[in-house]
Amino acid sequence: MAGWLFNIDIFKRMISGFPTMKFNTALCIALCGAVLWLRLYKSRKSSIFQNIFSAIVLLFALISFSEDIFHYNTGLDQLFVADNESFATSSNYPGRMAVFTAICFICLVVSFSLAKAKSKSVRTTTQFILHFVTVISFIAIVGYLYNIPIFYKLSFLTSMAMHTAVLFFIISIAGSFFNYNLGVTGLFTGEGMGSVMARKIFPMIIIILLILGFLRLQSYRLNMISLEFGIALYTISFLLVCLLIIGITAVQLNHIDRKRKEAEELLKGFNKNLEHIVHQRTQHIREITNRLSLATKASSIGIWDWDIINNNLVWDEQMYSLYGIKPASFGGVFEAWERGVHPEDLDKSNSEIQQAIDDKKDLDLEFRVIWPDKSVHYIKGNAFIDRDEKGNASRMIGTNWDITEQMEQLEKIRQSKEQYHNMVTGVQDYAIILLDRNGNIKTWNKGAERIKGYKEEEILGNNSSTFYTVNDRNKHLPEALLELARKNGRASDEGWRVAKDGHLFWASVVINSLYDPDGKIIGFTKLTRDLTELKKAQDAVRITEGKLREQEEKMRLFVKHTPAAVAMFDDEMKYIIASDRWYRDYSIEGRDIIGQSHYDIFPEIGNMPEWLDMHQRCLKGAVQINDESAFTRPDGRTDWLHWEIHPWKKHDDSIGGIIMFTEVITDKVIARKTMKMLNKKLLDSNAELEQFAYVASHDLQEPLRTVKSFVQLLEKKYKSTLDENTAKYIHFAIDGVNRMKTLISDLLDFSKIGMAEQEFAFVNIATVLENTQLILKSLLEENGAIIIYPDHLPVIRANDLQIKQLFQNLITNGIKYRGEEKPVIEVGYTETNKLWQFFVKDNGTGINPEYFDKIFILFQRLHGRSTHSGTGIGLATCKKIAQKHGGSIWVESVEGKGSTFYFTISKQVESGEL
Ligand code: ADP
Repeated sequence: MAGWLFNIDIFKRMISGFPTMKFNTALCIALCGAVLWLRLYKSRKSSIFQNIFSAIVLLFALISFSEDIFHYNTGLDQLFVADNESFATSSNYPGRMAVFTAICFICLVVSFSLAKAKSKSVRTTTQFILHFVTVISFIAIVGYLYNIPIFYKLSFLTSMAMHTAVLFFIISIAGSFFNYNLGVTGLFTGEGMGSVMARKIFPMIIIILLILGFLRLQSYRLNMISLEFGIALYTISFLLVCLLIIGITAVQLNHIDRKRKEAEELLKGFNKNLEHIVHQRTQHIREITNRLSLATKASSIGIWDWDIINNNLVWDEQMYSLYGIKPASFGGVFEAWERGVHPEDLDKSNSEIQQAIDDKKDLDLEFRVIWPDKSVHYIKGNAFIDRDEKGNASRMIGTNWDITEQMEQLEKIRQSKEQYHNMVTGVQDYAIILLDRNGNIKTWNKGAERIKGYKEEEILGNNSSTFYTVNDRNKHLPEALLELARKNGRASDEGWRVAKDGHLFWASVVINSLYDPDGKIIGFTKLTRDLTELKKAQDAVRITEGKLREQEEKMRLFVKHTPAAVAMFDDEMKYIIASDRWYRDYSIEGRDIIGQSHYDIFPEIGNMPEWLDMHQRCLKGAVQINDESAFTRPDGRTDWLHWEIHPWKKHDDSIGGIIMFTEVITDKVIARKTMKMLNKKLLDSNAELEQFAYVASHDLQEPLRTVKSFVQLLEKKYKSTLDENTAKYIHFAIDGVNRMKTLISDLLDFSKIGMAEQEFAFVNIATVLENTQLILKSLLEENGAIIIYPDHLPVIRANDLQIKQLFQNLITNGIKYRGEEKPVIEVGYTETNKLWQFFVKDNGTGINPEYFDKIFILFQRLHGRSTHSGTGIGLATCKKIAQKHGGSIWVESVEGKGSTFYFTISKQVESGEL
């Protein structure tokens, strides 16, 4: 085609002077080649293209052929390219393919199309059509080889080009290989001896004949030999060659025959051997069959054989016992089997048998049969199906065996599984869940719902990390626990987890790995307990323990440092704790006494039955206290002790031991005794002193009166004669005597108070104040002073005279130490349960606080005699009177603003106690 399109002469005719291959021929050959090539592919597309190409070739060939026969011109020849060359040589049909070329194309297309026909005879015919093309093209090739144009100008009009002939030759042979076992091709490709010989001899004959023919023709053409000689030579040489070939063939055939005979001998040997083996095998099979029969009997396997086409069902003995029937009652047809099957299982079984017959699945049946006695038995069956050539089932051979026991076991297992499942899902106190390999939740129970708050449908498929706190998740705790379970088969943990509503619960978690039979992990079980209450209780106990320890420590420190000798003992008198003072007081510092018996530390107590008894009494609940008891030390020294022993009780109210408290009061006792003695001495000397004062003041009054009388006599007698100085001296003497008198009188009053017992009586204070007003009448008037007191004043038990003296002294002082204003003396009182408290308030000069105590001391005065007369005994007397009445006296004052004197009188003090 390229030759035509680009006008390359050598492409068109291959050898100069030979006919050209027409364009349409080239196109059709290309299409034939394409069809052959497409044949290699089985796709639909490929067959469509094959059909299209074949149709085009057929169309071109038929048109060209009919044009030649009926002498008309469709212009097809010049459709693609103009055959200018043929025009030039004034050829009749320029560009048209040769008639035989067209015939060959028709033959090729027809045989290609029918090569796949189902009928063998059609296929054989197509094969011969192809051989026809091969022969035609071969003749043309020989024509070219021998240069005999008649051979390739078969139509006598146009000639088949040389390369066209070669290509037809190749395509026709190639095409014949699609049915390589038919026709001549079949002869050459066969396995038979003839085919082998054909393959060997044919190429040789062809080549030799072609060479001989060529040589004969050439020698004839060159006039080297005469025609007759040539024919004779050709015949002889042909005979010789044939002889040679026959000879070779005969030798080979003989060789093959020999081999065949040897093989036959060998085969006979084999055959005998085989017969022997078959015999042995038959024996073996018989044994196996026997064994099988025994085995099926022993294993209760029944065998059945169903001829599907004739509906003939044969059972072995075992089958009858499986169905609980007698052979006589069995019908021997498929329906007879159906009668024994449980009605509920029949449809399913039949459908499965049908599916097996239709080759959709293997037969593997489970069904129930009902025995005549109405008992139900489970049967399992499977079968092998025999099929004919077309694949239709013709026969079924199978087995049945009783699986009632297994089914019952399975049912039991199923029930127990169900019970287990119900139990697990029903457990309220524990969350029991299954996790897959990645920790996703697969099952959920009531306990899980109760503890974690999620319903089954909302949590399944979620990851178990959902229940961990954000903090734990950040720390990858969920993954770490699963990893641990993967590694060790088990992992446990305790910690806070989060429930659906966000509240935290204290969970105790145990994760166990689940394995498949190969030991690979398929998931985990996770058991969670809510221990929040326990945790809280534990925390509370911890806190309480902490507090207790703290308390204990406090107590220990308290006891250790308490400034008393204290020790605590258990019920065997062993030391539990003791204060530092205990160690010191009993000289056991530095010794380890805790846990040791008191009697080991102080062995001397063992000889003191009274102490041993005391301890035992206290261990039985008695309390013993002794304020002052003498205790003789081992060194003979006597110590005075104040001791107390108390039992202490345990939490169950039983006595746990005793607490001993001792105080060494030896110093105190000695001091008290000394004081008592000194007091007595003091009292004695006081009494003596008071006696002396009384006697002295009483006895001094007499000589004083004498002195005063005689000085007054002297004054009277010598009044007129006395000079001024002497009269002054006498006045001083009388004044001195007067003051001495007052002093002695006051001193006498003072000393009287401390003397013998005083009479106590009911004293009306109002009366006392009225009397005082009368006694001090002139003093009050002189100073324009007034005394004010409330309407109601108490009646108290006291010494009437002394109370009068007390009020009189205080009121007199209030007037005596007056200020610018007229004196106003206010008297009042308050009372408590135990005493009366009176006050006498004035508006006089007041007293500097510095002297508040001093003024109550005997003879102490704040004012000079020149301004205010006095002895300094008044307030000392008042103090003594108050004390004699179980009370006291004190003053409050602001200088320049007056003073208030308070005194108290005890309500309980009787005269006898003073
Ligand atoms: P006398 O009045 O005889 O001096 P007292 O014992 O009665 O002795 O008083 C002692 C001193 O207390 C007085 O010298 C006086 O200085 C002072 N004194 C007593 N009562 C008052 C009073 N009401 N106001 C001011 N000073 C007083």
